[in-house]
Amino acid sequence: MSKSCAWDDLIGQTKAVSYLRSAIDTHTVGHAYLFVGPAGAGKKTAAKAFACAMLCEDGGCGACGVCYRIKRGLHPDVQVFEPEGASSYLLREQIRPLINGVHMRPIEGSRKVYIVGQADLMRDDSANAFLKTLEEPPNDVVIIMLAPTLDSVLPTIASRCLVVRFARIPASVAIDLLRSRTAASRIEAQAGLAATGDVLTRAVEFLESSSRRAARERMLGILKDLTALDEFDVLASARELLTLVKAPLEELKEQHVQELLSRQEFMGKAPNKSVEDRQKRELTAREREGVAEILNVTESWLRDCLVMSQGLGDMVVNGDAADAMEEVAAIMTPGAATRALDAVNETRRRISYNVSPQLAIEAMLFDIREVLLCPR
Ligand SMILES: [Zn+2]
Repeated sequence: MSKSCAWDDLIGQTKAVSYLRSAIDTHTVGHAYLFVGPAGAGKKTAAKAFACAMLCEDGGCGACGVCYRIKRGLHPDVQVFEPEGASSYLLREQIRPLINGVHMRPIEGSRKVYIVGQADLMRDDSANAFLKTLEEPPNDVVIIMLAPTLDSVLPTIASRCLVVRFARIPASVAIDLLRSRTAASRIEAQAGLAATGDVLTRAVEFLESSSRRAARERMLGILKDLTALDEFDVLASARELLTLVKAPLEELKEQHVQELLSRQEFMGKAPNKSVEDRQKRELTAREREGVAEILNVTESWLRDCLVMSQGLGDMVVNGDAADAMEEVAAIMTPGAATRALDAVNETRRRISYNVSPQLAIEAMLFDIREVLLCPR
């Protein structure tokens, strides 16, 4: 068996990976990169693997403390910036810690790496403030920006970066890759992709987490019975669902305790505020991810019911729930599916504007129930 390596997390992007690895091998790492490619292609995973390859003493072994902390977002010299919520980098405040900190020396290693997500949302104010940094970054700094396409990024930003393209991975290839990574069956792999919005690395985590799969199962059960539920049942179901979504957080909290302990042991340092803040952000991000999975499952189930109603049963992605869909498929119409899918999107929007996930999901279940009771 070959040695483990940070790049192992990256699935199906051999071209981009070999480009980045050769930059490491030939000591020609640039100061600013722009990773472009569709959601789910693995841009952020690649940025972290690249950081591992730069900072790990073993060239990115994927297994040492340095690699581990980079992957978990806990390494002080590797910082990830992403706009919070639905808004963009509206205020330069969101990017200010990067601009202000760029000239400080690395804390542990020889380099500092900044990963800037959703660079396509960077406009005017934030972009102008950032350009100066991007033009003349200090020698020990590598900035990696992520965006869905090259065109979506302001030309003034894009022209200062080395562009690395990430390909869209075809569904059939993604399923095969997932099956080679996990013990999942074909049907399970397909369901995992649907639940995670086709993000391969997340699908791997999803398939390996019994609690996340349990939340999906529960959501499918609620959808199947939705028209038979009274108001009280709907509210109770939403509550139960949110409890399941939060279950994986307990595992994460336990890991955080271990991290703080080992930090004290190895570095003789008590946890400082920045570590605690980062852990708090990680918990929030994981909860958001869990809620997003529930919405993805709902969306894919509604699409499945629609394709089934059109006699295209072999296009169903939630194959394990196909039998239970027949009843809904029998009454589903394109108009009803559209209204129900609108309810899912509205839920995403509400949550991005900080409506509590519980309230948003309750409202969604009532909306979808109404559509299914009166499909038109
Ligand atoms: Zn390592």
